[in-house]
Amino acid sequence: MKGIRGDALKAGVRADIVTAALGDIRFDEKVVRFSRNQPEYKLAIWDYMAFLVDEARIADGRTMMRIEAKTLAAIEKTYGVDRFVLTALWGVESDYGKIEGDFFLPRALASLACSGRRARMFRGELIQALKIAAAGDVKLKDLHGSWAGAFGHTQFMPSTWRRLAVDFDRDGRRDIVNSVADALASSANFLRKSGWRSGLPWGFEVKLPAKYKGPVGRGKKASPATWAKRGVTRADGSALPRSGSYGLLRPAGRNGPAFLVSRNFDALYSYNAAESYALAISHLSDRLKGKGAFTKAWPTNDPGLSRAQRKRLQELLIAQGLYKGEADGRMGPLTAAAIRLAERKAGLKETGRPGARILEVLTGNN
Ligand code: CA
Repeated sequence: MKGIRGDALKAGVRADIVTAALGDIRFDEKVVRFSRNQPEYKLAIWDYMAFLVDEARIADGRTMMRIEAKTLAAIEKTYGVDRFVLTALWGVESDYGKIEGDFFLPRALASLACSGRRARMFRGELIQALKIAAAGDVKLKDLHGSWAGAFGHTQFMPSTWRRLAVDFDRDGRRDIVNSVADALASSANFLRKSGWRSGLPWGFEVKLPAKYKGPVGRGKKASPATWAKRGVTRADGSALPRSGSYGLLRPAGRNGPAFLVSRNFDALYSYNAAESYALAISHLSDRLKGKGAFTKAWPTNDPGLSRAQRKRLQELLIAQGLYKGEADGRMGPLTAAAIRLAERKAGLKETGRPGARILEVLTGNN
């Protein structure tokens, strides 16, 4: 940890900020543990989608769109990124500012800068975070975020902040923690710089011919006319767009829903490199517009749960003496262990996964 203080001073961060941020800092093991377990890569797509695009997030998003209507309209005009996508991104990243992360950024980043293969990258992020505080854009005490150093309403990394954050409310500070206008405009700026094209849909659900053998993947883009020749139609029965270039996405393989996605989907992907993440934002933006759920179900007989259902599951586990934690909707190791116990009692395969089947079993027992 000592070397880090020296590095920060050498990089030109003011001594008082370095002392205030790193003075009595200790290594945070929790951060390093989290860094080895990233949910986007292990969860089934239907679990991921079920809690990110649930009824509560759709309803809250509509409320936030009313509250922030003026700001969203102004951002839309400046950057050409529509209000539905920006609101959906906000909802997925921080539940509309409700969950920005509890980790003090200097501590989290200093811990990551001392361990693991990305230590050097995190050292750079730490120094950038201290510079943000030193410049007065975001106060040091407000620099809280995820274990990985993403902070504010739209969860920028400090280096992303440096490149792309904007002062949309013109108070002289690029404050993505305390200003919704700055945060959402910064995200719009990010998307525009990542190739977002105004007016182009992210994509749409499609139907494929029974034995489709054509190209699959975001990178293999073709015109709607070419897709029509391959037998692809829109799932809602409407006509394919006349222009644009789209790639075929099948997140759960040949038996799940399929989508044609545009370069705007790729822009969302560049925000956080996971197709599931880009699909969650894309779908939530459609739901905020009033569109429905996907036509085709995910290929599982044990669907994922919304946040409300996850809480309900924990309440039932508590009532049956299997879980001693809180019913907070968070699926940590204690909840997983309790689910395994419940599954064993019910004669089901032990998975520890919060799904519709175990919820149904516990509801029946109660
Ligand atoms: Ca500002």
